[in-house]
Amino acid sequence: MKTFKGGIHPEDKKQLSAAQKIENMPIPERVVIPVSQHLGRPAKPIVKVNDKVKIGQLIAEADTDFSANIHASIDGIVEEIKNYNHPVYGYGLAIIVKKNETSNQNFEPLSKTNWRNLDRILIKQKISDAGIVGLGGATFPTHIKLNPPSDKKIDTIIINAVECEPYLTADYRLMLEHCNEIIEGAEILKYLMNIDNIVIGIEANKKDAFEIFKKYGQGKLQAELLKLKYPQGAEKQLIDAITNRKVPPAKLPMDVGVIVVNVGTVYAIYEATVYNKPLIERIVTVSGAGIKSPKNLRCRIGILWSEIIKYCGGISSARRLIMGGPMMGVAQFTDDVPVIKGVSGILALTDEEVGYSEEEPCLRCGNCIRGCPMNLLPSEINKMCDANDIEQLIKLNIVDCIECGSCVYVCPANKKILQKIRKYKLKVRR
Ligand code: SF4
Ligand code: SF4
Repeated sequence: MKTFKGGIHPEDKKQLSAAQKIENMPIPERVVIPVSQHLGRPAKPIVKVNDKVKIGQLIAEADTDFSANIHASIDGIVEEIKNYNHPVYGYGLAIIVKKNETSNQNFEPLSKTNWRNLDRILIKQKISDAGIVGLGGATFPTHIKLNPPSDKKIDTIIINAVECEPYLTADYRLMLEHCNEIIEGAEILKYLMNIDNIVIGIEANKKDAFEIFKKYGQGKLQAELLKLKYPQGAEKQLIDAITNRKVPPAKLPMDVGVIVVNVGTVYAIYEATVYNKPLIERIVTVSGAGIKSPKNLRCRIGILWSEIIKYCGGISSARRLIMGGPMMGVAQFTDDVPVIKGVSGILALTDEEVGYSEEEPCLRCGNCIRGCPMNLLPSEINKMCDANDIEQLIKLNIVDCIECGSCVYVCPANKKILQKIRKYKLKVRR
């Protein structure tokens, strides 16, 4: 099986939710829809308080090309437009929609479109209109990714179905339950980019999903089973694993002829192209030993975490609440935050799962260096952060760090390397 150099093997903990079929989360009384759910400029609200909105209606428009549209995820009335808790930025402008009690709250798609008859430009427009962003957590606007500059010759598309973060099983369930739609989404991508070579990368702990794609994807896409290793879902590591091409520091996948698209994003592209469905919902894994009843839920964008947690039986005990996976996710200060497009997981981790440890002197064991997928020297970077030596940090290429947390995970001295890297990357950039 293929893989990349470096990386680590954290316990995957996926058994907590892997067998749970995707359930539809009940429609809440109100949703809180932030206008910034993507990399780039926040979208501009185009509705006002007391406006009636329909499911799928555009409510905030992409501000310039490097932005993404935002749509109403339920039928209702705009109750407020105000700052609200945000799972990534802490706080940000949101459109609050109160549910219309008389609506069935189903998205009514147009009849199935035969995309094979559509112009490529029109399909790209549909993807842009639908507000699709990278659903693996990066939230990069997809219409930009699918429009590389003309001097970048793309010959390979990789569907990222690695889901290498512990606990998360949203992509896994999507693959098991929506294989045909994902394969059709892959065909749309092939047509759109005029490329034949499309590979779906799946890790060895999802062999059943791999077998399904190998069987039903024959002649349409290539399924590649990858060795189990973290952080294989990071773009540069996945490209290395599958194509053996190395993306140089400060360069992008397109610089080595590759576009990487998350498997959930491919599903969203299918829905937007075939049914004109905007991105109004996503699959979220709710897990961790602190959650009484872990689940994989189809959630409308804007539903509050507190409602989701209640639906999963509540929290037995938890020390940390995290958006995404435990390695690269974002710790929260409250459960009064909405699901946004980038929320792949909601984790409530107990004391035992989080652990606690005081920093000790470096043992010079080299674990962090062997584990770093970017070939950096985390122990040296840690030392130079402590010394506030910006020049040395630049020489040590601190900005190439992908913040995967592997160095922290394998460090026997409990060095808080990643926290320092995040802080000093900002300083170096300034
Ligand atoms: S230095 Fe950065 S890229 Fe390397 S292991 Fe640590 S967090 Fe990951
Ligand atoms: S893993 Fe920790 S103890 Fe070992 S060299 Fe790196 S910083 Fe030092």
